[in-house]
Amino acid sequence: MDNTQHISAGDFSAWLKEVRASLITEAGTAVNCGSCNACCTSSYFIHIQPQETKTLARINKRLLFPAPGLPKGNVLMGYDEQGRCPMLTDGRCSIYKNRAITCRIYDCRVFTAAGIDPGDSDKTLIKKRTDLWQFEYPTPQDRDDHQAVKAAATFITTHADCFPDGAIPHNPSQLAILAIKVYSVFSNDAVTSGKWSNQEIAQKIIKTNADFETSRLKSNHQQV
Ligand code: SF4
Repeated sequence: MDNTQHISAGDFSAWLKEVRASLITEAGTAVNCGSCNACCTSSYFIHIQPQETKTLARINKRLLFPAPGLPKGNVLMGYDEQGRCPMLTDGRCSIYKNRAITCRIYDCRVFTAAGIDPGDSDKTLIKKRTDLWQFEYPTPQDRDDHQAVKAAATFITTHADCFPDGAIPHNPSQLAILAIKVYSVFSNDAVTSGKWSNQEIAQKIIKTNADFETSRLKSNHQQV
């Protein structure tokens, strides 16, 4: 692809730090969306948590239904027959200031970072955007960090058998985010030098993800 068609995704390590912090604090990242609204038109179910009262107050209850497998009060908002979120008006989010945390923390650069395809034909517009992003590497650390995120995504997708019951995320968003949460495992000399077995690497991924989730829950608890 011609380089002039790319859009800068920012310095990789700085972005990685920002997106990891956003996943913990749910503060969101600064994404240069421009006129792109692919994530609002790509058949995503939007999860809204019970405490998101301002968001819930802006949405007609008939558009919401209970989120399967989550505690009471968690709901999902669907999309129309063309995959568009019902809150999209004239190509813009009509509840932008009160949009859901799911929307705030969504950053399609996670797919570019992890080297993961965003999904099937209903995610074509997102794929177009993720193909345009290009990260910058001002230092060797930026390249090493990106390599580690991609290595994490590749390991998880190709070694499902090393995880209990083969349980790895099959949803591309969850998979890319998992790679971002556990990338540090692949910066470890024991992995890069081949000292650890695949089972040991999988165990380390599970532990690193659990530690990340603990930080997230702690942060949520402090914000309540
Ligand atoms: S609520 Fe707004 S930001 Fe979220 S998907 Fe719908 S239109 Fe997009």
